Amino acid sequence: MDFYIGEKQTKEKKIKFSERTKTTLNKRTRIPKSVTEIDMFPLMLKKGTVPLTEKNVEKVFKSFLTDEQDFFKIVPTDLKLISKSKVGSKWLAKFQQVYQGIPVHKSTVGLTATEDGKMDSISSNFHPRIDVPTKPKINLTNAAQIAKETFKEPDVIRNLKMEDDIKIIFPSVTSKGVTYHLAWKFLLTAGRAYPESEMYFIIDAIDGTILLSYAARFPGARISGHVRGEIYDVDEVATPETVRALQNEQVRVQWSGRAQTDDDGRYSLQLSFLSRLIKFFTGSYRVRFVLEGSYARVEEFNGPRFIERERFSNRTNCDHTWRDADRDHINVFYHMNLFRDWLKSQVGYSWINGWDGSRQFKAEVNRPGFNNAMSGNPMNFGTDPWARSSDIIYHECMHNVLFAIYGDWIGWPVDDEEGYSMDEGFADYFACSFTGDSSFGEGAMAVARNLDNNQNYPSKNTYNIEGHTGGQIIAGAAWDLREILIARFGAANGARLADNMLFDAHQMLANQAQDYYFSDPQESNLLTCLYNTDDGRSHIQEIRAAFWNHNLLQAVLFDRDSYDFSANVVSEFTGGDLYYYQGKFWANNPQQRGVIDLGDVGATTLDAVNIPNTGYTRFGVDAVAGHTYVSMAQEGEDASYIAFRVTEMSGDSSEVTVEYFYHAKVG
Ligand SMILES: [Zn+2]
Repeated sequence: MDFYIGEKQTKEKKIKFSERTKTTLNKRTRIPKSVTEIDMFPLMLKKGTVPLTEKNVEKVFKSFLTDEQDFFKIVPTDLKLISKSKVGSKWLAKFQQVYQGIPVHKSTVGLTATEDGKMDSISSNFHPRIDVPTKPKINLTNAAQIAKETFKEPDVIRNLKMEDDIKIIFPSVTSKGVTYHLAWKFLLTAGRAYPESEMYFIIDAIDGTILLSYAARFPGARISGHVRGEIYDVDEVATPETVRALQNEQVRVQWSGRAQTDDDGRYSLQLSFLSRLIKFFTGSYRVRFVLEGSYARVEEFNGPRFIERERFSNRTNCDHTWRDADRDHINVFYHMNLFRDWLKSQVGYSWINGWDGSRQFKAEVNRPGFNNAMSGNPMNFGTDPWARSSDIIYHECMHNVLFAIYGDWIGWPVDDEEGYSMDEGFADYFACSFTGDSSFGEGAMAVARNLDNNQNYPSKNTYNIEGHTGGQIIAGAAWDLREILIARFGAANGARLADNMLFDAHQMLANQAQDYYFSDPQESNLLTCLYNTDDGRSHIQEIRAAFWNHNLLQAVLFDRDSYDFSANVVSEFTGGDLYYYQGKFWANNPQQRGVIDLGDVGATTLDAVNIPNTGYTRFGVDAVAGHTYVSMAQEGEDASYIAFRVTEMSGDSSEVTVEYFYHAKVG
């Protein structure tokens, strides 16, 4: 086996290794704790002919641990990268130890290497012999209860909330050695009014013992501040800038760690002893602000993150305001966070990035020569207007949300079918619902789209419409549903109801097999899913009305198909209000009640046809293109009728397309 020390190849690595390095052992685990002056290449770098880069540093460092596994006793597959960076001329990477995927409390391995790829040092408190069950016997709720019982103050107890909960392996050190516990770690806080009550707990997940508890804060030596940014005004491009609080933004104080701004753009961070010591000598703290946080990250196109720095000498406060003549990046960061929050509060959805499993919306701005915006990971925003329109930002975010829900785009890359029209239509719809304005993209696009429209669905067989245009049909129906519900329940409740029904329907539709359609009962379709949502069941009439407005109440029926108009479900012969067989409509199976042919009624629309009281038959009326029919609704929907019209019929009568209107409880 090849092995190198410096530039030399050798076979006797062990002797050379211990000779050349400085090693101290962990007294408890008896494995190396600190190794310095390593000064050798990992095999992977082939004597230094392969360069060490940001891209391969994680892999290379892990490979070195594999090279020397006998010596270090560290299992590289049990390490998860926490951070990597280049500081001066050295590469640094820090790993968290995991045991069967569960983080081991405070157990990390840090490695450094010189610029040319020679390993420099390792610092480890890796636990080599963990053997514990990984299935909790005490659930998180019970653990929280155990922790709560340690509080005395009634006001605090009433307000306690849990945050930052995580399952960990907790090593506890006794005189006899180390024992390991599967444990819950979480923060209990009673809110800002009771800062002293914030406590961390680590509770044994097998027997409920409190393994450790400690105050989350201690007095003094904190810094805090307010982070804001200049953005472009919502929906407009040309208006003067405004300064808004930037939430969920990273703030790092050198040597003290990281904080994230809250909803109001405020942060607060404990200053470490080292920070304070350095400040003592240099007179200032160094603070770094990044346009990145738990839920959003913005980078220059094909370039770095946006970072700004402040030095401050004031002990307690360091505010920062992002400003830029071209502030697309600030605008995108701000609006991605807003949209993420809205999804959470409006439809209870916590977005997980479908590509990388993170919770971040990721975007790149200022893509040269790109006169557009594009979803994906990262999203791309091109020339100025695109990154400056909040509508566009929400639209692209929503594409990504739908991608995550469906595990793919709904219809893209087939760009002229109903699936892709839903990609575009619902990216528009949720952007517009958030802004409360049916007009989309004004200020950014030459022609804005409007969801308050009369765009009609042609038919399933003739549909051939580009997605952004076709999207206005289905999003138009969605917007109408929202309007109808707002008229009934008020602005906030109506919109919330519509958003939830539509969002739930997408989650249900995504669970079905491709391809996806607006309403055709032969296919996985949104209409049936809407009916089947919890709220949809009690709002079938409103859904129908909205879909009727856009000519979306249509069904393709094949020979032998029965059809239940109210549920939008096809079956065979039985079930449903009627069935289609050998060129006729029949209603002679259980619960079916009868159908009548009204002939050609000219321009009379289906919602306006007269419903006859008599003349219905259960034994077949001919299907004729252009004829209008009335079907009695099946038993259980008594006194309701469906007016329907044959709009298309195949030459061999094997297939008809009907439009229908459901007359609920007339006559
Ligand atoms: Zn789009």
